[in-house]
Amino acid sequence: MAYTSYKKIDDVGRVVLPKDVREELGLRINDMLRIETENDRIVITKAEESCIFCGKSSGIKRYMGKTVCESCIKKLNKA
Ligand SMILES: [Zn+2]
Repeated sequence: MAYTSYKKIDDVGRVVLPKDVREELGLRINDMLRIETENDRIVITKAEESCIFCGKSSGIKRYMGKTVCESCIKKLNKA
């Protein structure tokens, strides 16, 4: 669904994502976003979480506050 909204950038550069947009896309607090520029556009997409060690995006878990895959967690536990 197309959505248009006008938002001001605040004095430290922040922009609030409208609640309707967050709900429609299932964005939650602390989700990571990817911000890219495309000519004169800013493209914001939900970043897929990936393992901080190997970069895989499957089997991701939170481990001591970081995103780590299950196989790297096993390796860490053996170390
Ligand atoms: Zn990993």
